Amino acid sequence: MRILIISDIHSNLEGLEACLEHTPQHDVIVNLGDVVGYGASPNEVTDHSRKLGPIVVRGNHDKACSGVMGIDSFNPIAGLAALWTKQVLTPENLTWLATLKQGPLFMDGLDDVQFVHGSPLDEDEYVIVIRDAIAPLMRAERTLTFFGHTHIQGAFSLENEAVETLRPMYRFRDKMESYEIPLRKTARYLINPGSVGQPRDGDPRAGFLLFNTEAYSVTFLRVPYNIAGAQGRITAAKLPERLATRLADGR
Ligand code: ZN
Repeated sequence: MRILIISDIHSNLEGLEACLEHTPQHDVIVNLGDVVGYGASPNEVTDHSRKLGPIVVRGNHDKACSGVMGIDSFNPIAGLAALWTKQVLTPENLTWLATLKQGPLFMDGLDDVQFVHGSPLDEDEYVIVIRDAIAPLMRAERTLTFFGHTHIQGAFSLENEAVETLRPMYRFRDKMESYEIPLRKTARYLINPGSVGQPRDGDPRAGFLLFNTEAYSVTFLRVPYNIAGAQGRITAAKLPERLATRLADGR
């Protein structure tokens, strides 16, 4: 089975459309959450997400934008965007977001795999550097964990008490690229597809990945998208300008 894994779309319609347009052959789509927040197309992106696949993990922005939790833990810019999102969401989309399930979520037939937003141990925890990954790698109940939340594409592995950081190596910034990493059955992994709508690893292209369960490999993908279009919507919605400028830097 080929599972397309997307995360952290953050109301970026142009980013999502580019991913779906250039997506490789796949059987099912899994969404690791933060469908909304930051960007200016919350309803369009939620409408799309509702049709894409059965597995959608809730993210912290999905909770904040739908009123499941407050915005106390958010910085002022994220908080402003969450309040704006909550105001413009249709009642149907608000309800859909509010009832998303907390990870880890599972897929029938894939006994070694789980899907989370933050960490397998805490849905809101950030696994950014290898130090953050050690406890979740050791304590996760499944061999493979797909996670989002940090907007940084890559993976952490644990094998024979050795932990390792794995990052896709790309050559370009302005065209679609992919980078395949074969997985070892003897290792445990935390794997992040990156962010569709607000990459923070210095590469402004939308990030996502394809997990091939038979080949037992993950293919990281980056796709250029209409950044100016997404920025224009943010400006037109009078959201903080920083939310537009950061898209061009991938930060
Ligand atoms: Zn996010």
